[in-house]
Amino acid sequence: MRLLGVHGVSKAFANGVLAVGDVSLDILAGEFVSVLGPSGCGKSTLLRLIAGLIEPTTGIIERDGGGQPGDLGFVFQEPTLMPWASALANVALPLKLKGVARSEREGRAAEALAKVGLGGFERSYPRELSGGMKMRVSLARALAVGPRLMLMDEPFAALDEITRHRLNSDLLELWQRTGVTIVFVTHSVFESVFLSQRILVMSSRPGRIAAELAVEAPYPRDELFRTSPEYGAFCRTASTRLGEVLAA
Ligand code: ADP
Ligand code: MG
Repeated sequence: MRLLGVHGVSKAFANGVLAVGDVSLDILAGEFVSVLGPSGCGKSTLLRLIAGLIEPTTGIIERDGGGQPGDLGFVFQEPTLMPWASALANVALPLKLKGVARSEREGRAAEALAKVGLGGFERSYPRELSGGMKMRVSLARALAVGPRLMLMDEPFAALDEITRHRLNSDLLELWQRTGVTIVFVTHSVFESVFLSQRILVMSSRPGRIAAELAVEAPYPRDELFRTSPEYGAFCRTASTRLGEVLAA
């Protein structure tokens, strides 16, 4: 079942920058799709268009099955937590904004924190948490609303490699357990191959989906997969494809 259809979408900003030019793509329910491209190619703009945070200049975006723009979770590169509020209060914020009663939103927030491996840290403040833990809180905040679609904009790019690998594995586990659909933006070939079923390679100026690559490796994918020849071969293919797109 299709969850989202993007048809001929472009986005020109008021300053004349054509950030996204004529993008068409479908996202199926339950998929894990990566958007891979260099910095400045329009990945964040595409994600914001999909989220309904900005309007396309041309083209249309269809959300199937009655999905609302609010039916999604958005995870940014920065955890963007409120420093004065506990982890629980941070995760409960979107529910509070939706008018969910206090006891229910705190219950759901605690559940979301447990899902990302932060059970027991409800009362901790952001300053008491490591970078990886703050990102987990941010992930929990996106999950708390029970989204059908998760849009993730280079969420792990600022983390050290070891933490990033842990979060990659835990995200896959979460994806498999919940069945949520994920569109994951990254500029890392290695990350896109490890995580996704399908990689959309984006070109620059204007940003277009210039190539698509299926990563036909089974899940669960673990650290053994990360060091396997199979993984290496997919990385090489993705890297070559990206190189071709950038040289074109
Ligand atoms: P990426 O996320 O791939 O790094 P962005 O989508 O952030 O790329 O940006 C794509 C292009 O659009 C860049 O050239 C950027 O400077 C420009 N851009 C992004 N947002 C705006 C905006 N609000 N106004 C004008 N230009 C913008
Ligand atoms: Mg970006």
